[in-house]
Parts: sequence; C-alpha cells; structure tokens
Amino acid sequence: MADDAKTGQTDVIVLGAGMVGVSSALSALSARERGMSVTLVDRREPGSETSYGNAGIISSGSIFPLNTPALFEALPKYLSNSHPALRWNLGWSIRNADWIMRFLANAFPAQTKPRAAALQGLISASLKLHREWIVRAGAPQRIRETGWLKAWRGDVTASAKAQQAALAEFGIKSEVLDRQAISALEPNILPVYRTGILHTETASVDSPGNVVKAYAKMFAGAGGQIRSSDIKSITPVGEGWRVVLSDGEIFGRHVVVALGPWSADLLRSLGYRAPLAFERGYHQEFKPNPARQLLRPIHDADIGFLMSPMEQGIRVTSGVELTDRDAPSNFAQLEASAAAARSVVEFGEAVAQPWRGARPTLPDSLPMIGPAPRHRGLWLAFGHQHIGFTTGAGTGAAIAAMIGGAPPPFDVTAFAPSRYL
Ligand SMILES: Cc1cc2nc3c(=O)[nH]c(=O)nc-3n(C[C@H](O)[C@H](O)[C@H](O)COP(=O)(O)OP(=O)(O)OC[C@H]3O[C@@H](n4cnc5c(N)ncnc54)[C@H](O)[C@@H]3O)c2cc1C
Repeated sequence: MADDAKTGQTDVIVLGAGMVGVSSALSALSARERGMSVTLVDRREPGSETSYGNAGIISSGSIFPLNTPALFEALPKYLSNSHPALRWNLGWSIRNADWIMRFLANAFPAQTKPRAAALQGLISASLKLHREWIVRAGAPQRIRETGWLKAWRGDVTASAKAQQAALAEFGIKSEVLDRQAISALEPNILPVYRTGILHTETASVDSPGNVVKAYAKMFAGAGGQIRSSDIKSITPVGEGWRVVLSDGEIFGRHVVVALGPWSADLLRSLGYRAPLAFERGYHQEFKPNPARQLLRPIHDADIGFLMSPMEQGIRVTSGVELTDRDAPSNFAQLEASAAAARSVVEFGEAVAQPWRGARPTLPDSLPMIGPAPRHRGLWLAFGHQHIGFTTGAGTGAAIAAMIGGAPPPFDVTAFAPSRYL
C-alpha cells in the first residue's frame, strides 16, 4: 500500500504517542526496506501523559513486578490503607475483586521466575535500543549512567543480598551498600539509610516527556507522519482498518493499539475485554538546592516513593493508588512522600502543580505485545505497569518485527494477548 497522505492510506497506523507508541512507530519505519509507511496518532503532543510523568528510570533490573511472594509479606501493612506505598479505594476494590484475586494469584512463587525471565528479555532489548536511540535523536545529554539506588533505613543487608542474588540469576548486576558506601555515592543526602542496593546498569533521564518528543521528532525526520487528533473508533474494512478520528478518518493495513491506560476502551467495540487496571501515581517537582544535588534516582523502599533529579527540579513520585482511572485526585500519598523526601534531601518550594497518571496493569503484570487473537492486522501493545518508559522501546521493536513477518528480538510468548482475550 502506498504512503498517501491525501487519501489517508498508510501501511501502519500507531494509536497513541507515549513511549510505547512512538517506539512502535519508529521501529516500523526503520523497517522501510520493506517499504512501510507509518502514521502516529495522538490527541496530545507525543509524550504528554504517563510517559511524561514517570520517574525517568530506564531500568535494567525491574524484572520482579509488584505481585511476587513479597507482596503477601507486605499486605498486613497495607490493610490499614494509610501506607504511602499502596492505597486502595474500597468501592473500586469491591467492584474489581476479580481483578485483585487474579493479580494475587500471580504472586505465588511458581509464577515468579517465568515472568522475570520474560521481562528480562524485554528489558535488555529495551536498554540497548534506548542507548542507541537517545544518541541518534540528538538527546544524549538527557541520559545518565549513574544507576538506581533502592535504600532502607534499617539494617536489611541479608534481604538486600537475597535480592542481589535473585537479580544475578538473570545476569543483572548490582551492589549491596552500607551507610558509608551510600554516603560516598550520594554525598548530598542525609545519612538516613543503613542499607542500599545499587542497580549499576540502570540508566535514567532528566525529562521523560522530552525524550519521547525527541524520539517522535526522529520518527518525523525519517518520513513518519504524526497526526494530532482524538481517536474515536477502529473498524475492520476489507484487508485493513478504518480509524475514525474527530476530524476525519484514515485507513491502514495494520493498526497498533498503544493507548496506555486508555487502550481497553477502544477495544471494547471489537468484543475484547482487556482486564486492565490502573495503578495510579502522582508526582511533584521541587526547587533543588544547587549545593545539595541528587546524583541519581533513589527509591525509598520503607516509605515507598522515589525521588529523581530532573531538568526542572527534584521529582518526587508516589507509590500506587488502586482506583478508577479518572476518579478525583487524592494528594495524601504524594504529600506524605514529599514530606519523607525532605527528611532525606534538601529542596525548596514546588516548581509546578502536582501531576497524576495511571500505570496500566494486567493481572500478571506483563504487557500485551502481539496480535489480537480474532482480527488480522490488529496489534496490541499496552499494559506496561511500572516499567513502560523502559520497555516501550523493546515493545516497539517486537511489534514492528512481527508486523514485518520477522522474528522479534526477544521471546514474546509470555506477552501474547491471547492469554486474556
Ligand atoms: C508515578 C509513575 C512513575 C513511573 N516511573 C517509571 C520509571 O521510572 N520507569 C519506567 O520505565 N516506567 C515508569 N512508569 C511507568 C510508565 O510511565 C508507563 O508504563 C508508560 O509511560 C506507559 O506508556 P504508554 O505509551 O503505554 O502510555 P502513555 O504514555 O499514557 O501514552 C498513551 C497515549 O495515548 C493517547 N491517547 C489515549 N486515548 C486517546 C484517544 N482516544 N485519542 C488520541 N490519543 C489518545 C494519550 O494522549 C497518550 O499520549 C511510571 C509510571 C508512573 C505513573
């Protein structure tokens, strides 16, 4: 099919310009030797939603999702619904008891290793691509190779060593640190942490939204089309798809649904009920003290928040809030996190309003990456929970390979949409 902007015909239409969609569009376009034309559609500028508000970590080691056996140990402290790491809305929990049970069923020991192995393949392919793309996109100054520190106030060396060993089984490098080593690494924070684990191969960026924009610019510079419009519906027609937009319609042979937390909405009219829930999260940025800079993202594992040095200031990101995607904001978790962060690093007043987003999560915490089971030419790429800024890149490469009939760069079996649809 020819690339014809006038007739609105294209080979691949990617819906959603977050990290997942932009990476899919970029990867599909790189397969140009097969002559593919690619259009990327979003109602907002690329990288303006979940892929904007995250902590900017390009993680080498996030292979163990929230639902592992450790969740069962932590559950008692979450039951009071006052811990900053996890809050849940009672009404939502009753209405979604089935989703909660399926999520917990995946936390048993037998489910852990297969999912970790699947995520390791996706993560390592993604890291490689980010390191390459960020340079090609002209934004190498945004990436920092300083690792990611997870830290505890108590002496939990044995548990940190167990985590290190679990990561090492998958070839992921880390270092266990004591108070002195943490101070040497982060000389500007107060010495509140006694134990730490440094993910040495993890990178981070100083502006996740601008990194997505840089990738999108690279896509447009290579001949990709970006269309700014609200997507209303998708319908199969003949050998391809009609995508109805608020200002017209476009036709494509393949459609990739990469709408992050909005993905399930669009699929409903095709008879797909994706069990997507929302682990909502907040952030706020604060004016840093130039004499007390953070050098890398730090995850406070006791209280359950993250602080990351960003272009505009220190970004404090909250833990998980389980509720409806569009329920009104409740800033209590963010406020508790910001107060705790102040006891670790000095910073001034907020530089912007609080932000809220939703991590899109399926019951097994694995994304869907692959073909829709009952429709040819429909590809699903969503459900990337806490690690979609990282894993968007590998997801895009895998989707583009599958569209082009080539083998994906890692084993995608565990991500098959047919496991739920
Ligand atoms: C607080 C927080 C911290 C996080 N920290 C990290 C981290 O450090 N590292 C990491 O790897 N991940 C992190 N994540 C997870 C990560 O941000 C997400 O998994 C990832 O951004 C999801 O990307 P996406 O492209 O699927 O979705 P999105 O970025 O949300 O993109 C979806 C796009 O679809 C568009 N869209 C939706 N509906 C329509 C429509 N009808 N018409 C047109 N456009 C539409 C939206 O405008 C949006 O641009 C974090 C998440 C949160 C909330």
